[in-house]
Amino acid sequence: MKLCILSRNANCYSTRRLREAAERRGHETRVLDTLKFSIDLEEGDPDLYYRSKSLAHYDAVLPRIGSSITYYGTAVVRQFEQMDVFCANSSMAIANSRDKLRCLQVLSRHQLGIPPTTFVRDRKDILAAIERVGGAPVVIKLIEGTQGVGVILADSVKVAEAIIETLNSTQQNVLVQKFVAESRGRDVRALVVGDRVVAAMRRVAQGNEFRSNVHRGGLTEPVELDEKMAETAVRAAQVMGLRVAGVDMLEANDGPQVMEVNSSPGLQGIEECSQLDIAGAIVDYIAAQVNFAEVDIRQR
Ligand code: ADP
Repeated sequence: MKLCILSRNANCYSTRRLREAAERRGHETRVLDTLKFSIDLEEGDPDLYYRSKSLAHYDAVLPRIGSSITYYGTAVVRQFEQMDVFCANSSMAIANSRDKLRCLQVLSRHQLGIPPTTFVRDRKDILAAIERVGGAPVVIKLIEGTQGVGVILADSVKVAEAIIETLNSTQQNVLVQKFVAESRGRDVRALVVGDRVVAAMRRVAQGNEFRSNVHRGGLTEPVELDEKMAETAVRAAQVMGLRVAGVDMLEANDGPQVMEVNSSPGLQGIEECSQLDIAGAIVDYIAAQVNFAEVDIRQR
């Protein structure tokens, strides 16, 4: 197949590994910078230009869209969709998963564990909202935070109220979430490709930190997921409409709770931890989807 990897940085670990894995399998592969596309709209003729030249045909697109370019990135992916190019993750799924509130709203319709969460704006409603998710200590999260930035543990209702009011006053929307104390400092990242978990790791926070993000100093260890956790991860990815996803779960007393689903999961930490060729698994999955479609058309 001819594969286009959308990425701002051809040299970052994940992009490099994906390109190497695709080339090793004989796929013609290009890494194209998401922000160097122009989107042309004309009646009946959606088109894409790359560095001002008409884009060649591709069989598949693997979007790696960073959170700082969600709007432009999803617009480029949407244009590939209009041109009937197979996209490993759809623009809608990327947009839905990018926003922690939207992600939990979509997941909450299904029988999937999620931490009790509330979204509140009027200061008069804050106290009751905190009580509904179990009272203090409570976790407060910026809707579009990443790498643990904007995730705060408020020990008391007073502190929680003050933080929420301060953030709201600077036009930042926040979620209030039950603090899953039994999972303190630990979470599980499952890498889902298609209908299976290809690798998983546990992240463990160090010292007094409650956030287990590697960017906050968390350490990783390989973990064998039990059936319930693996099923939860796959279903969460599928409900979000993501074929390639990093599903983050807390290990609560009554089972796994999905915190968020990432559409462009980093590969370095989880490949190093699991010693598995995850990039290869992603490329093989995409190739199988693309080939299947071709066979299907010929048979009709
Ligand atoms: P980010 O997207 O910035 O990584 P997360 O929502 O994943 O934000 O939260 C960062 C970390 O904080 C998680 O990896 C987990 O260790 C911890 N954490 C987040 N929410 C909760 C919660 N409700 N209860 C306990 N720990 C949590």
